[in-house]
Amino acid sequence: MAVNVWGYLHEYEAEREEILAAVESVLRSGKLILGPNVAAFEEEFAAYCGAKYGVGCDNGTSAVMLALLALGLNPGDEVVTVANTAVPTVSAIVSAGGAPRFVDIDPATGLMDVSKLEAAITPRTRAVVAVHLFGQCVDMAAVRAVADRHGLFVVEDCAQSHGATQGGRVAGSLADAAAFSFYPTKILGTYGDGGMVLTDRAEVAEKLKRLRFYGMEKTYYALEHGFNSRLDEIHAAILRGKLKHLPGYIARRRELAGRYDAALAGTALTLPATAPGNEHAYYLYVVRHPRRDAVMAGLRERGVNVNISYPWPIHTMTGYAHLGYKEGDLPATEAAAREIFSLPLYPSLTDAEQDTAIAALRETLAGLAA
Ligand SMILES: *Cc1c(COP(=O)(O)O)cnc(C)c1O
Repeated sequence: MAVNVWGYLHEYEAEREEILAAVESVLRSGKLILGPNVAAFEEEFAAYCGAKYGVGCDNGTSAVMLALLALGLNPGDEVVTVANTAVPTVSAIVSAGGAPRFVDIDPATGLMDVSKLEAAITPRTRAVVAVHLFGQCVDMAAVRAVADRHGLFVVEDCAQSHGATQGGRVAGSLADAAAFSFYPTKILGTYGDGGMVLTDRAEVAEKLKRLRFYGMEKTYYALEHGFNSRLDEIHAAILRGKLKHLPGYIARRRELAGRYDAALAGTALTLPATAPGNEHAYYLYVVRHPRRDAVMAGLRERGVNVNISYPWPIHTMTGYAHLGYKEGDLPATEAAAREIFSLPLYPSLTDAEQDTAIAALRETLAGLAA
């Protein structure tokens, strides 16, 4: 039996009737763009996260870009983030006109090492994008304290952390704005692309609504330069149905993570650590091993597919060479990129599939130790 790192077909089978009914109702409604499903999903998802306003958009990359622009980023402003994130975090900062600056990570969690944040701030710094990587939150009280001392605004990149909490508060309600992706693999995903920005500030929500819709204030009248970054009614309708299942998806993710924790304790793998105050939502279950590539080869031979998120730190990529970083600048980030990989974990992964992955790991690790 091959075990995959992700798959949606079991979940689709289980929810098929509900999903097709949602799509059918949109197609029959005569309203395809910015209609009642987008408005309802914005309200329902914002309420789930404990934020006042939600503005749907076309994907998570746009969500990060629009959040920065709506909060007032100006061309050339520096934005501090991390280099061990999905490329879109950094792509969005550049698309918003910002200049990304990178802080190294805490090796235990893979999250921004906030004790290094202040040293990265210059007179040109305007914002921090805190990436809640793998399903748990950056220490937002610590980020806020630094940001307040320097008059910065803070955006959460929540693309991997739907439903994660910190101090009992849900990711997406912990900064000036938060960006979500509903890409298919995410904790809450649709069958295509989608995104959302959350904020508690009415004027920021109003600006976001203009920016996603050609800068328009009323039909055919642009108040400012904007984009076409809308969320479709079809995806909003699918996501409204899936939002009802989100607590169940997260509970299953946590259950699978607990089974890995128990089965892999005491092996040569470094298991994921949860920072104090956090409840992890386990978008990914990321482990470390000094001979990562050999472990992955052993798993592949045994039919278990794993993934690396992410193999290349962004500051070492050709596409971002112009930012002026070099290998060696972010040692903890670079070391993690050489050793991490993610085990199969998604809500409809069965116990039997997970047990196959665990057995393959144990055999592979025993082979390497011998
Ligand atoms: C997926 C992801 C994004 C981008 O989302 P898209 O919907 O694919 O544009 C941004 N940031 C992080 C951390 C992500 O994982």
